[in-house]
Amino acid sequence: MHIPYQLKRSTRARTMRLVVHPDARVVVTAPHAFGQDSIERFVVKHSDWIERHVKQTRGRIVIRVWRHKIPVLKKRALVMASERCAHFAATYGCTLKKITVRAQKSRWGSCSREGNLSFNYKIAVLPPHIADYIVVHELCHLAEMNHGKKFWDLVAKTVPEHKTTRAELRRVVVVYD
Ligand SMILES: [Zn+2]
Repeated sequence: MHIPYQLKRSTRARTMRLVVHPDARVVVTAPHAFGQDSIERFVVKHSDWIERHVKQTRGRIVIRVWRHKIPVLKKRALVMASERCAHFAATYGCTLKKITVRAQKSRWGSCSREGNLSFNYKIAVLPPHIADYIVVHELCHLAEMNHGKKFWDLVAKTVPEHKTTRAELRRVVVVYD
């Protein structure tokens, strides 16, 4: 079996290292002393492991973010969140308070007890229908602070396909370049 991989030479590495990235890229890090033959042998030896991990990445929606673009994305996310919140607030007839954008690791959005909404800046790189779902989700928390049936009924008013969208959102992996 031939496995395409990217080779990185490292001055610090003492042994060879193998990583399968979320976008299915296989990267081998090897010290300079190791020749091409031993690297090839190393990859072949771990081919089952590589194949297994590459398979696991299937179905993921990989979104690349350039680190130097983060400040721009934060600004864009705030404009977007404000605009979409205003749009959906009109439909739901709710009053908006403060809207902020944050760099959160694992959360896409939150709604405080005081009714302030906060969004992850990465909503700026999501497909628009997924970003809209996140906006609607937090907006509906202004009326329902839980995830009960009433809450999901509210969400479904503007995002009837929210189940599929949520499944899509779970498949999103953000990769930093
Ligand atoms: Zn929620």
